[in-house]
Amino acid sequence: MYYSDLATTYSAVEQTSGTLDKIEKFSELLTRASADDIESVIALTMGKIHPDWKDEPEVGIAEKVAVQIVAAAAGVPESEVTDSLRDVGDIGEVAEQLLSKSAQATLFSEDLSPNDVYEALDEVAHLTGPGSAREKISKMVGLLSDSEPLEAKYILRTAMGDLRLGLGDMTIIDSLSVAFTGDREARSSIERAYNVSSDLPWVARVLLSNGFEEVTSVHPQVGRPIRMMAAKKLATSEEILEKVGGQALVEYKYDGERVQAHKDGDKVVLFSRRQERITSQYPDVVEMVTKHLKPEVCIVEAEIVAIDPDSLEMRPFQELMRRRRKTDISEMRDTVPVALYLFDILYVEGEDVMDRPMLERRTLLEEAVSDADRVRLTSAELVNKSERLDEVFKDAVATGHEGVIAKAVHDDSVYQAGSRSWLWIKLKASYKEGMADSVDLVVVGAFHGRGKRTGLYGAILAAVYDETTDSYPTVCKIGTGFTDEMLVEMKQRLDDLGRAERHPRVESDLDADVWFDPELVIEVIGDEITVSPTHVAGKGILHEGGLAIRFPRFTGRWRDDKSPNQATTVEDLVEMYKNQRPEGP
Ligand code: ATP
Repeated sequence: MYYSDLATTYSAVEQTSGTLDKIEKFSELLTRASADDIESVIALTMGKIHPDWKDEPEVGIAEKVAVQIVAAAAGVPESEVTDSLRDVGDIGEVAEQLLSKSAQATLFSEDLSPNDVYEALDEVAHLTGPGSAREKISKMVGLLSDSEPLEAKYILRTAMGDLRLGLGDMTIIDSLSVAFTGDREARSSIERAYNVSSDLPWVARVLLSNGFEEVTSVHPQVGRPIRMMAAKKLATSEEILEKVGGQALVEYKYDGERVQAHKDGDKVVLFSRRQERITSQYPDVVEMVTKHLKPEVCIVEAEIVAIDPDSLEMRPFQELMRRRRKTDISEMRDTVPVALYLFDILYVEGEDVMDRPMLERRTLLEEAVSDADRVRLTSAELVNKSERLDEVFKDAVATGHEGVIAKAVHDDSVYQAGSRSWLWIKLKASYKEGMADSVDLVVVGAFHGRGKRTGLYGAILAAVYDETTDSYPTVCKIGTGFTDEMLVEMKQRLDDLGRAERHPRVESDLDADVWFDPELVIEVIGDEITVSPTHVAGKGILHEGGLAIRFPRFTGRWRDDKSPNQATTVEDLVEMYKNQRPEGP
């Protein structure tokens, strides 16, 4: 297979809007891939040379640098590239146009394979240290000179981590299913393999080389994060108990950072819910896991909570995030000590226990942990009456917890990697006021402040994540909830993310003063979800218009623990809209 096959398919996929058509086109390409190049094909299409958890550098070419690369490759002044970029709005397309005009580029083009492109980009990613910026540019110019204009368009976009094809992870999984099993029936098994291994290129190779059977029996491996299970939400105890089948293990919801700890002897790796390695941030947690988890080999999940150094009482989440951002870990380790609250076990002494029911896993966890001051199991009580659930909830809130998580205990109460299912349901204090829950939104744009806010942003344009189109449609404009300090911090945090034009994956009918790369996730609470002529989230799903959050306010909580594609999704928003109580303004 040649990279030009990918480029041609990408172009066709880009020009179709329907997800099914995209799947058809992309899966046809996959049927032509071999075991040697399938991993590169999938990694390039995901726009990620390595999964996050491998802790390898990303190519991460910024738009400004891309302008220099295109100018050098096409032999034109940078100002010409900038001018076209202003007209066209996409640097990939600009590269294609300018390179088509440049005889030099096409004359020397070579037949690149997907592996050639992958390896070249990997090399660029690994260039570090003094002089590396120039080397990166020259390597990229070389690569573009070896490519046809259409190839250059997509190579450049991949190097910027933004292929813009509307092929999200789930659509790629559907395409793999169609390509290698003939229809979409196998998608859930492939998705499970992905959720367990967090490595879609690898799953694709197993599928192609070893067949579908092998994919159905993928088990966790210590050192590879398992995509985390998430909780749904409901506002009353009655609904919760009904949903889980009458009985639940009710645990306090601790307000900290979720961690998945992988232990193999004295080797411990900690993964965040973004699947980043956070081992070096928490040397004290590594010690706790080594000392207080009895199995030689295991994978467990827990909440890391900041505690007061003297009283050992829980401290708020923000405190913990303060520690995460500091580089002087040893100092923070003493000023913001932490406790570990364990709540699940997924793998123990070589055995995959994810499919065991909740109570069996809880017993295994109890057996695995030797309690200590700072290493504890989450509080848990088996409850089958809504009055009792309410009491536990009240106790939870009264003792400084966010609320409770009720976990199903029936025979099918497995650990459902990578999914937000009804097996875990959260109930939080905030659900009783206003909107059923806070949402986590991605900051995509901003409006300049006036008066007291001059020099800062007066309002933020925020978006949800659309899983099917892999894009960020706007859902509200937020101007309240900010203290002066927060506004300053917001400005600082957004400084590196600014861009001249709307990001191609951001969908908006509003014109912000400043646009940003969709990266920063913040927590927002609103009064209700309404149909909107202004915002485009979920447009056409329930109504002609989109959905918007009314009276949105920033809660002060930066969701550094979430990546943008873990923000509230269009699907979540639609569900929240449908569940909304009829009372309200
Ligand atoms: P929220 O904003 O409500 O925390 P979220 O989207 O961050 O929601 P969810 O998966 O919906 O996360 O809620 C579960 C989160 O709650 C977990 O990721 C975990 O960090 C935290 N948590 C606290 N206590 C528990 C517990 N006992 N069991 C499971 N998760 C817990």
